[in-house]
Amino acid sequence: MIYIGNHLSSSDGFLAMGKHASELGADTFAFFTRNPRGGKAKDIDPADAAALMAYMEEHHFGPLVAHAPYTMNLCSDKADIRKFAFDMLADDLKRMEYVPGNYYNFHPGSHVGQGTETGIGFIAEALNGAMFPEMQTTVLLEMMAGKGSEIGSRFEEIRAIIDKVELKEKIGVCIDTCHLWDGGHDIGGHLDDVLAEFDAVIDLDRLKAVHLNDSMNPQAAHKDRHQKLGEGMIGAGVLKAVVTHPLLQGKPFILETPNEDEGYKKEIALVRAWMCTSSHGM
Ligand code: FE
Ligand code: FE
Ligand code: ZN
Repeated sequence: MIYIGNHLSSSDGFLAMGKHASELGADTFAFFTRNPRGGKAKDIDPADAAALMAYMEEHHFGPLVAHAPYTMNLCSDKADIRKFAFDMLADDLKRMEYVPGNYYNFHPGSHVGQGTETGIGFIAEALNGAMFPEMQTTVLLEMMAGKGSEIGSRFEEIRAIIDKVELKEKIGVCIDTCHLWDGGHDIGGHLDDVLAEFDAVIDLDRLKAVHLNDSMNPQAAHKDRHQKLGEGMIGAGVLKAVVTHPLLQGKPFILETPNEDEGYKKEIALVRAWMCTSSHGM
């Protein structure tokens, strides 16, 4: 089995998100730690956070996959943008301790012309400054489509960041089916090989979560435009193979498809049906 859910709005508070997820048939969810465009986060109500934790346990939820704002670029070529990003990261990691034991996923960033190696150095430096030994969150590097100067479309780049992170037991990876596809990894024809390469370069023990999206573009397009499950160029057959893959069982799968509640409800039900009709889906 896998845990399945989608992105929810955090503006109503933690417990409300848990209940909303249940209504959609989900048993995990994602949320932005602050406005996706960045800026100041609203205060956390500790009682509300604790109520969500109790609710999740009662309803057998899997780990949550919080998402950092898109604008958080830890490897910008501009020092003030890097500082802004670092402050958000450090604040978010403190705030995540109100809901301990979950995941915090972020986009490694775009190096904006200064080169991958320099960018990787900045990302690791920021992580080492913001992560702390007592934290109970695992930070996830999201693999990217390789749009523009994005870092993280290649397994080697993710590995290079992890190598430089000091608190190794608190760092992991989130794959995104649209990003892998757009990034040139042939999950359509050779899913087993892609996962074997992940294992060889990074180690599958680091793979903690999956973003489940179809793609509007052909493989290796480096575009990153998500589509509803089965309505894009990846297609339902491949996405079903991902969801039921033995090496991916037990992980949270997050939908980031262009949907409203009704659409998410349908996709969650569809994914659950895929799991039931597959011989090794349980
Ligand atoms: Fe993302
Ligand atoms: Fe994603
Ligand atoms: Zn994306």
